[in-house]
Amino acid sequence: MIPRHASALLISDLHLTPSMPLTAQRFFDFCEKEAPKVEAVFILGDLFEYWVGDDAAAHSPFQQEVQRVLANLSTKVKTYYLHGNRDFLIGHSFIKKTGMTLLPDPITVEIASKKWVLAHGDALCTADVGYQIFRGWVRKPWIQKIFLSLPLNWRKGIAQHLRSNSHTQYQQTKASNTHQLKMDVTKQACAAVLRDQSGDLLIHGHTHMPAHHEESIDGQQWQRWVLSDWDLDHPESGRPRASALLIDDAGTRYIDLIKN
Ligand code: MN
Repeated sequence: MIPRHASALLISDLHLTPSMPLTAQRFFDFCEKEAPKVEAVFILGDLFEYWVGDDAAAHSPFQQEVQRVLANLSTKVKTYYLHGNRDFLIGHSFIKKTGMTLLPDPITVEIASKKWVLAHGDALCTADVGYQIFRGWVRKPWIQKIFLSLPLNWRKGIAQHLRSNSHTQYQQTKASNTHQLKMDVTKQACAAVLRDQSGDLLIHGHTHMPAHHEESIDGQQWQRWVLSDWDLDHPESGRPRASALLIDDAGTRYIDLIKN
């Protein structure tokens, strides 16, 4: 049975971390202010900047606070979560404590009488072959089991190392022409996932390039909405940003969470 709701808000890529307090505060406010107005909230991955195991949350006042906020939100609104590439190690223990429902990636849901295919988006970036190989490994349950059995400070060290590597790679690619190609989803991957799910409406995050696209390939047509990342803590890096996609009987549109 697929989740079915009359209205929903969809968010992703908040990258919550104690070093970004304004972003976290906007999320807490979102849970109080915007979220209770709809039937369901879908968090499409990368809620956290990184996640090294549910047991680490017990040692982090910040993660405890987010857990409390999510648990409170879940009592008011049906809350769904699917894994991102940074927080894919969020486990059943944390999910249970928050009252959220874990969804597979991709998943088809029904919102406002339409069928939507939801994904984080990293699996759709198939031009980045190196990343897809890495993803294939870290999503293997036995690799995750080994990682999660390591001492907490080792896991934090590895996560830190991976993040700084991906940042360096990102900066290098950004300077090259292949940037757009590698950092975005491919039409082929979107077409394949939509054929698989028998859908023509796709929503994903991950690329941090919020926009509504109408696309086609070989006679297959679809619409694609990309969710924005959230950052209210680095005004020097450009405009502060945070938005949610609202779907209800009146249609589908972005809600700007900075202005409102
Ligand atoms: Mn991501």
